Amino acid sequence: MRALVLDAPGPAASRPLALRERPDPEPAEDELVLRVAACGVCRTDLQIVEGDLEAHRLPIVPGHQAVGRVEAVGALVTDWTVGDRAGVTWLAGTCGTCPACRSGRENLCASATFTGWDRDGGYAERMAVRADVAVRLPDGFADLDAAPLLCGGVIGYRSLRIAGVEPGSRLGLFGFGASALLAIQVARHWGCEVFVFTRSERERERARDLGAAWAGGYEDPSPQPLDAAITFAPVGSVVLAALRAVDRGGIVAINAIHLDRIPEFPYELLWWERSLRSVANVTRADAREFLALAAEIPIRTAIEVHPLADGGLALERLARGEVGGSAVLTID
Ligand SMILES: [Zn+2]
Ligand SMILES: [Zn+2]
Repeated sequence: MRALVLDAPGPAASRPLALRERPDPEPAEDELVLRVAACGVCRTDLQIVEGDLEAHRLPIVPGHQAVGRVEAVGALVTDWTVGDRAGVTWLAGTCGTCPACRSGRENLCASATFTGWDRDGGYAERMAVRADVAVRLPDGFADLDAAPLLCGGVIGYRSLRIAGVEPGSRLGLFGFGASALLAIQVARHWGCEVFVFTRSERERERARDLGAAWAGGYEDPSPQPLDAAITFAPVGSVVLAALRAVDRGGIVAINAIHLDRIPEFPYELLWWERSLRSVANVTRADAREFLALAAEIPIRTAIEVHPLADGGLALERLARGEVGGSAVLTID
């Protein structure tokens, strides 16, 4: 099979991924092998490829938003059959026995493994996935449209929950990339008033189209005090802009697996029971709940499609901030 392989991290512009022939994966007894049809390109892939996230294993095939058809089923798997459509998320496996796993917080499992970081991901014609973490996808979404829901969508949904967003909340979104674009649709569905802070005028326009009550720049004062805010931009200073915008008791959730640093700030910004939380990974329940909601709303995805061989170009466009919505690799 063909796969995009990372041997050594480097700047996206230097195209560190190589398209290579590799042996087809065989399913372990608890695994599926998927024929991949589409794989979303996530900022986390970029951070792995460029080395901002230290490699767990090299060489590695990135990609953790894969949609495919089951082609082979391990001996112990009973709930999947050949031909089923399956989705793969960031969560590649958990131990199932630690306190985090037993209390519905498997995203915090210290032994968790991650797709495209600990094991080969979906920038390939085929991939193996543990059957118990593969997800079923609602029929309403074509393969290419379903792919960006699997990370950007699910993590955006988890961020809304970590930020304590409830129907009618006043919510701020800081940064308006692939994940925020999906989160705003959930928030609007819940009747939230949404304020979007982003550098790009094109993204502000898109935010207003998707029902934002207001859109401005990171340093613009919020027109209203917010109940909750989520930061998507991987920039520490944006966290402070979000803290400034939330009301007493408000929560700021940081949706970033990698952030350079948060500048020093006066305690006054946190005082009055404001909270600052990070969002780490996703659970299977997050994926199930979000996908059901995505079908019900229904969520619209904005995608730009690239063939597998152009995965490096897609990452370079993402690095340069040129992707409007989500980049998705089509694989046939
Ligand atoms: Zn565990
Ligand atoms: Zn991701």
